[in-house]
Amino acid sequence: MKLPIRVLALSLLLAGTAHAAPGDADAAKALLKAGVGFDTVKGRGKVPAYAAFLKDALVKGGFDAAAIAIEPVGEMANLHLVWKGSGKRPPIAIAGHMDVVEADPKDWVRDPFKAVEEDGYVFGRGAGDNKFDVTMVVSTLIALKSQGFKPARDIHLFLSGDEETEGVTAALQAKQAKAAGVEFLLNCDAGGGALGPDGMPLGYALSAAEKTYADYQITVTNPGGHSSRPVDENAIVRLAAATARIGAWRFTPQINEITRGELTAMGQRSGGALGAAMLAFVANPADAAAIATLRADPGAIGLIGTTCVPTLVTGGHAPNALPQKAVLTVNCRIFPGVATEAVRAELERVVADPLVKVTTGQEWVSTPASPLRADVVAAVTKAVTAARPGVKVTPAMDAGASDSVYYRALGIPSYGTSGLFMKESDVFIHGLNERIPVAAIAPALVHWHTLLTELAK
Ligand SMILES: [Zn+2]
Repeated sequence: MKLPIRVLALSLLLAGTAHAAPGDADAAKALLKAGVGFDTVKGRGKVPAYAAFLKDALVKGGFDAAAIAIEPVGEMANLHLVWKGSGKRPPIAIAGHMDVVEADPKDWVRDPFKAVEEDGYVFGRGAGDNKFDVTMVVSTLIALKSQGFKPARDIHLFLSGDEETEGVTAALQAKQAKAAGVEFLLNCDAGGGALGPDGMPLGYALSAAEKTYADYQITVTNPGGHSSRPVDENAIVRLAAATARIGAWRFTPQINEITRGELTAMGQRSGGALGAAMLAFVANPADAAAIATLRADPGAIGLIGTTCVPTLVTGGHAPNALPQKAVLTVNCRIFPGVATEAVRAELERVVADPLVKVTTGQEWVSTPASPLRADVVAAVTKAVTAARPGVKVTPAMDAGASDSVYYRALGIPSYGTSGLFMKESDVFIHGLNERIPVAAIAPALVHWHTLLTELAK
């Protein structure tokens, strides 16, 4: 195929500055829009077709088909590309996911599985999460390949197929990354930038830690009986007392390298009583007044320790029978480094009732915070400021749970480094009418191009 004049002109221009140009924004937009057309929702069996579509794009972009494996996993699939480097440094990996959350066309203004470009946005399920960054990464790899870039280390691309549901596919890929000796992971499905209402960048979050998701079951059982013959012992009443104790409990505040940086930046930016409390907490994590202020704010309480909250309750079996069983579900977001069993034991102490059982329900992998590696922080800062000069990079802890947990659990430090900057008012991820601004594409390509060049040159 003949090179389009635009590309030809660009490559002539760049003859002296090898691999300096990011991927082509129009081509990336076309790839994103075509990708949204695959309704990769759990149960519809479309993930393998989307994987094949991406593989085809990579092969057309110059990668050897043999370097790209598509591994079927049930009705889903994993994609794994290995770009062999010179081996001067240990391998690195990039992760993203190909599946999307369900979307009911009845509720959407436009067909969720047909990308629609309107008013400067691309609408469609997955346009943001995570097909945006997956497309930007694939476009960047193709650009680097075509520019003759020779990585100094192997670059692995791991795209999973069920991040939004079970996470089985990422767990498999994390093991493959471990076996390949991957030094650290860049997860394109976390981190990212914020824009103010005026469209000016507010800052960039480099995600380096995640809280552990865990559900616990608090159960009371009782022989029951007829409701016309009440006895003192009642399963619902006993569970209610235990529920009240859990509801009133606050876990000991904690801080780590990541939240220290995050709270400092947030405190400086937000100002006021809340901002002052954030800075006071950083200076002294035992400051009772600061803790009280932060605990009263839903956006801050999760940053200063483990939280547990009653979310579901079931009990009794008939309106005219004494309840034989009552069960409370407590959802916890556990601070990195704290074992899920330690939280279960603490809930048991809080309940303080031998007739109330505290057991583990659904539990995600528990992971440590990833160290803020100087090379990663420097490369991410360079990438962010290359696209948007002057923007500050701040470490961040997520509420969980992304694919990074499987990598961190195996000792592979993982960093959420999405290239997407969004206004708060444009964020509809997992929701109705998901969209991304078309103007976000070109800077995201600069972001990934700079990041990969920095880390693999
Ligand atoms: Zn996602």
